[in-house]
Amino acid sequence: MPWSRAICSACKAELIYGPGKRTSSSGGEIPCPYLSLPFAELRAGHDQIYFGPWRKVEATQPDIRRAYNQIGRHLSAIGDILAGKELPSARCDLAKAREAYLSADPREDSPGLLLLLDNALSYAHRAIDDLLHESGLTPHHPMDFASWYDAPEVPFQEDL
Ligand SMILES: [Zn+2]
Repeated sequence: MPWSRAICSACKAELIYGPGKRTSSSGGEIPCPYLSLPFAELRAGHDQIYFGPWRKVEATQPDIRRAYNQIGRHLSAIGDILAGKELPSARCDLAKAREAYLSADPREDSPGLLLLLDNALSYAHRAIDDLLHESGLTPHHPMDFASWYDAPEVPFQEDL
């Protein structure tokens, strides 16, 4: 089976499928690496951005604009999940993510834009981990899913 790229029908992430990704336990169907995990859509939404082309050295302006839009949708998705839940730490991190996001202007080719977007995504990841922690679950590790993305290298580190 050749390597190919497709939108997963379960988690909506754009994933890379290749040899070894089709398992017998999935009945020959293409498996979703997130499907059995709690908050699968938030994890997939995060990783889709985390491994996106905007973080690569050769990123283009459209890549960055697309990432900006994806981050906006991702923050909304996290907000929807947090709505009505008593999770102060997750809310606080989501607020920080929104603050960074709202400071970013994708129309400007400013040197700070990538940093603001990276901060927004890092705080979004924290909010997801807060949510997982409050639910008694272990943190989400994007690198566990790296083989599903076109991501040989990730130049930014999450070192907030
Ligand atoms: Zn999936």
